[in-house]
Amino acid sequence: MNTALVSELSEGVSGEVVLPGDSAYEHLSNGFVHPGAPALIVLCHDTEDVRKAIRFARDNSLVLSVRSGGHSNAGFCTNEGGIIIDVSALNGVEIVDPGQNLVRVGAGAKWGEAAKALVPHNLAISSGDTTTVGVGGLMLGGGIGWMVRKYGLAIDNLVAAEVVTADGRVLRASAEENADLFWALRGGGGNFGVVTAFEIVARPVRKVHFGVITYPAAERVTVLKGWSDYMRTASEDVTSTVGMFPSFGEELPPLFITVCYAGDDPEAAAEALRPLLTLGTLMDQQVKPMAYAEILEPPGELPPGWLPRVKSSFAPTCSHDFIDVITENVVAFDNVFVEFRSLGGAVRRVAADATAFAHRDVEVMVNTVVLGAADDNRELEPRFQEFWQKLAPFTSGAYSNFLSQMDEQQIAAVYPPETYARLSAVKGKYDPENLFDQNPNIKPAAQPVAVA
Ligand SMILES: Cc1cc2nc3c(=O)[nH]c(=O)nc-3n(C[C@H](O)[C@H](O)[C@H](O)COP(=O)(O)OP(=O)(O)OC[C@H]3O[C@@H](n4cnc5c(N)ncnc54)[C@H](O)[C@@H]3O)c2cc1C
Repeated sequence: MNTALVSELSEGVSGEVVLPGDSAYEHLSNGFVHPGAPALIVLCHDTEDVRKAIRFARDNSLVLSVRSGGHSNAGFCTNEGGIIIDVSALNGVEIVDPGQNLVRVGAGAKWGEAAKALVPHNLAISSGDTTTVGVGGLMLGGGIGWMVRKYGLAIDNLVAAEVVTADGRVLRASAEENADLFWALRGGGGNFGVVTAFEIVARPVRKVHFGVITYPAAERVTVLKGWSDYMRTASEDVTSTVGMFPSFGEELPPLFITVCYAGDDPEAAAEALRPLLTLGTLMDQQVKPMAYAEILEPPGELPPGWLPRVKSSFAPTCSHDFIDVITENVVAFDNVFVEFRSLGGAVRRVAADATAFAHRDVEVMVNTVVLGAADDNRELEPRFQEFWQKLAPFTSGAYSNFLSQMDEQQIAAVYPPETYARLSAVKGKYDPENLFDQNPNIKPAAQPVAVA
């Protein structure tokens, strides 16, 4: 790395350039999930910093990672020997049009911060479940959270985004301006540039009813079937997940159903949730009214040297046969956490081709996490793959934000052929040299040659 050029960059940005040896380097070089060793990290304080950092990456042919909250399951937010453009300081949350509940949120804000900032206004944004996850990464992949059945994916509430493209232009993408880019940003990941801010419609939410309902492990099959049948026709106010933990050689843990009723009326909430309390022998239930910001939780700490392998797919129908197969194989594998997230409702009402997130007509997302030592792939990977082969007849597609591996097969699962072809054309227009390739990467389509 040319030190004169790095000094020039350092002096030119209003933020900071962090280099190996600097006190902040070690902390900033790692993502939440994956460690890294970049040559430099640019902490951008404004859009102009982002432009300069992109220019620097281009001029020096550096591997370029973009980071908002740093929670990429695939490790895209860091690299070895390249540059990280870190936008975490672009974290403002500002109501720009109170009449429309329109909120401008910096891409580097964390969802927990955004949720807290909106509590005094009785507003909330359909987002995710974790406080520290970044607005940038979650939004660009889709965003599946606690109000997804009522208010849709995070992207379904997006009105516009500000993007710095590979050639340094600052573009606004919305239904009216750069509409192709706007379509692609909603599910297409970080392929098209660095997003600095989003304009999002927040929803009037005072309190939600949220909590965990617990059933014994011995009843997990019947309870899960009851849950799936109930969720198929449940009120869209109800979003719910089921968590099945492995035993790790001990007694099988109970089945945890987490519910969020997106409304503050206690009687209506009790009425809607009652069927979930009679699915088996109820062990416990802790559903209570809470502010939306209170239901987002910090992530669990990972044991040092351990790496979660994350893989997801969607079940168009969460059938009893599927539940039999998955529960049987969870017990056989005994090192996989399985989470069912209910979808349908508002997610289904958006057409599959309206955004780059095409998996609309499905009942649940199935997310799985296998924990093991970072270098334990030889033993774990084949078993994980075998587990997923058993689920293949019941599942289709994948959610880009819940994938550790992003090979061609996975990218094809995330983006069906028509979506991919359209994304590829947009990529060819906005990032023809594929500068932004640390993401679920779309290869740019060749651009038509202008005839003089
Ligand atoms: C503990 C945990 C809980 C999670 N819970 C949920 C959940 O409830 N719902 C859900 O939908 N997902 C969830 N996820 C997945 C999450 O959405 C993805 O990991 C997402 O990529 C994280 O966003 P980030 O900004 O924190 O990550 P980063 O690592 O900063 O970003 C991930 C990638 O997104 C792209 N990107 C990020 N910001 C920008 C930007 N400003 N401009 C351009 N490209 C950008 C880049 O390619 C970047 O490498 C969770 C992940 C974890 C680890």
